[in-house]
Amino acid sequence: MSALANEHKAINLSQGFPDYPLHPALSEHLFNASKQGFNQYAPMIGWAPLREQIANQYAHQYHVSPNPDTEITITPGATYGIFTALASILSADDEVIVLEPAYDSYVPNIEMCNATPICIALKAPFFSVDWEAIKKAINAKTKAIIVNTPHNPTGAVWAKEDWNTLYDLIKDTAIYIIADEVYDTLLFDGKQHFSAFQHEGLRNRCFCIYSFGKSLHATGWKLGYVIAEHANMQLFRRLHQYLSFSVSTPTQVAVARFLETNTLYAQAAFMQQKRDFFLDALSKTPFKIHQKSPGSYFQLASYDAISDMPDTEFAKWLTINYGVATIPLSPFYKSKKDERLIRFCFAKEEQTIRNAMQRLLQIPSNA
Ligand code: PMP
Repeated sequence: MSALANEHKAINLSQGFPDYPLHPALSEHLFNASKQGFNQYAPMIGWAPLREQIANQYAHQYHVSPNPDTEITITPGATYGIFTALASILSADDEVIVLEPAYDSYVPNIEMCNATPICIALKAPFFSVDWEAIKKAINAKTKAIIVNTPHNPTGAVWAKEDWNTLYDLIKDTAIYIIADEVYDTLLFDGKQHFSAFQHEGLRNRCFCIYSFGKSLHATGWKLGYVIAEHANMQLFRRLHQYLSFSVSTPTQVAVARFLETNTLYAQAAFMQQKRDFFLDALSKTPFKIHQKSPGSYFQLASYDAISDMPDTEFAKWLTINYGVATIPLSPFYKSKKDERLIRFCFAKEEQTIRNAMQRLLQIPSNA
């Protein structure tokens, strides 16, 4: 959709990346780190001061202290962290439960390990977890379950009770959890993120995945980290050592220095303001807000009042005819299930949103 957006000079509310400037201190730290000579390989597990900052901030936020030396590894982004976590535990013929709609790397990553994705749809209309279906899907081959909270594309957030329910289902098995928590800093309306590593029963079987791309609004920096208990982290590092080995040094130094005076967890109010501005503007158009997004960069909307086209066709039509790019929901399903919903990214300048809305206001109902 981003390619189509460029081709048609459309306003890009499709892919999840911000268009507002980076915090100026981050750019300065990056420039200075390189100028001061931090340009050679960083340690395999990551720059020590960065791992320490992560450990401190995580402990302060979630009241559990991952060991910075043995339980945190810096990665070149979260997508890499997800793949490496999967590859470090999967063997051929294992099964991995994926809750759909799902971020697009999960299924191919599982297949790249010669394992089988078992896709379970979240329940309509508001994408709640189908515990019965998960229970039925679990068998001796089930190696892992991927959980994404806050969720891309719906924004849905897991409460502690959800983790408790999952724990009850898997406590007598050796099933791992891959917890994609890249939007953990972006929860709205006072909601709290609960991390899998916080859960006493799940801590020894989870890999929690994070992205500075999301938490610092710098997706192009491709910097992230993984938190897992020592034994699991050893499995992870066995692969990491020969996949990427280490991660851009000046970028790690810059983020470590930035975090000396800034907290990762102060972003929610900023992003909630963007969500609210977006929702207010969208409510004046013929789109229907599906459910107010509780977290992440994203809002789903229905286009029932505009068209009955399939979602991918509609998203292309919208880009070509009205110059606003969005993402259809069906590609988030292996089966390409079409719920006539599209995803907007609201992590944008207010002016970008205003410009997009001017275009969306031109669309007649039942176009
Ligand atoms: N997981 C989810 C749910 C995402 O939305 C994204 C980015 N769109 C990622 C992982 C990837 O993050 P990164 O850019 O750090 O690889």
